[in-house]
Amino acid sequence: MTKEKWGELRERLLTTVGQNNYTTWIEPLDFRDLDDGIATFDVPTHFMGNYVSQNFSDLILHELKNEDDSIRRLSFSVPANSQNRPSAIDAPARAAPTAPPTPTRAHAALSAAPLDRRFTFDTFVVGKPNELAHAAARRVAEGGPVTFNPLFLYGGVGLGKTHLMHAIAWELQARRPDLNVLYLSAEQFMYRFVQALRDRKMMDFKELFRSVDVLMVDDVQFIAGKGSTQEEFFHTFNALVDQNKQIIISADRAPGEIKDLEDRVKSRLQCGLVVDLHPTDYELRLGILQSKVEQHMVTYPDLRVEDGVLEFLAHRISTNVRVLEGALTRLFAFASLVGRKIDMDLTQDCLADVLRASERKITVEEIQRKVSEHYNIRLSDMIGPKRLRSYARPRQVAMYLCKKMTSRSLPEIGRRFGGRDHTTVMHGVKRIEELKQQDGQIAEDLEMLRRALEA
Ligand code: ADP
Ligand code: MG
Repeated sequence: MTKEKWGELRERLLTTVGQNNYTTWIEPLDFRDLDDGIATFDVPTHFMGNYVSQNFSDLILHELKNEDDSIRRLSFSVPANSQNRPSAIDAPARAAPTAPPTPTRAHAALSAAPLDRRFTFDTFVVGKPNELAHAAARRVAEGGPVTFNPLFLYGGVGLGKTHLMHAIAWELQARRPDLNVLYLSAEQFMYRFVQALRDRKMMDFKELFRSVDVLMVDDVQFIAGKGSTQEEFFHTFNALVDQNKQIIISADRAPGEIKDLEDRVKSRLQCGLVVDLHPTDYELRLGILQSKVEQHMVTYPDLRVEDGVLEFLAHRISTNVRVLEGALTRLFAFASLVGRKIDMDLTQDCLADVLRASERKITVEEIQRKVSEHYNIRLSDMIGPKRLRSYARPRQVAMYLCKKMTSRSLPEIGRRFGGRDHTTVMHGVKRIEELKQQDGQIAEDLEMLRRALEA
């Protein structure tokens, strides 16, 4: 492998991944060396390295192997001497040796934290888990009089916080071009603060932040425990609130739960509107997948997704939307590369690692708890010796689900149901199997419970 050879191979990926992906992710990869079967590429940021590695490494490896079969693995690293500019969103700005010139006008600073074009309200799929956060974001994006300050959005990784923040920023830019909107990650805030301290430009720093009309700080949990940055953030925050300027904050948890955050900062953050993004449910995941498929269709007009694939993915990948998206991107790229249709076979082949990683082990205890909640009986009654029908039926349902959804044997299940014999469990499972065919209510209960357990 040589740099030239990589140049050629890279071109081939263009048709597979599409122009957009190519320009964003593939073109900037710089082949460095091949050592012991590991091909190393220089990338401009860690963020990019991670992204490429998650989404395109199979494809790249596939191309490379055609050329040189000894290549086993890829590695992406940020060269030590690279100037890690804080441009990419979420790009870690750690240990940046040289700094971009400090902008003196706030508007100039805006362009330093570019917004992702894909993160708009149009592409944000709304469902039960995120409807409140979405509505609040919409309201703020209208740019009307400030009603809640700050708007504090929180939720786990990959649930759409950054997406919503960018959407607000896009919308504000369109509706209120007169407003000076500044979006940045808390990491970038710290980075600029440290830089200003070092370059003795604190006055500029303060002026810059106090001159914005809307300040958006993403992943604010990052500044917890970082003494002087936190202090400066607090002052900036207060100055803007005093001027009645809108502030929008995101974090991975509620203000009160961020460790090492000073109490006065916490209470300041809580005094506006705090809304959370709940974990996605099956319907939302399916909706997101459907909308992403439409976007992929633009790049791959010839590809079709067979029935059942999206449902399967929405079912199986419940961790975070980013993983879900990555899986789909990979499917499309893979399908077009090997010229196959996107069906269950391809999905299993191509996503084996993702599927394994997201496999969730359902326990007997979980099943017992869910079932007793569903039928409104006490857990102890379900496990205990009572033979009343109103306990026995739920017990059999729970046994059935344990048999179907866990890898426990009949005797093991029996033991966990108050030391019952395995024949009792077997009988219960059989009974439910019969009833499932005859009794619509039971079939419905089972379906609901299965969903709840898998969500
Ligand atoms: P967070 O900042 O909460 O970690 P992101 O906003 O970066 O998560 O979202 C991760 C990915 O999932 C992004 O590509 C985003 O577009 C996508 N995503 C998350 N929620 C939704 C949604 N409701 N509709 C469409 N895409 C979503
Ligand atoms: Mg984010």
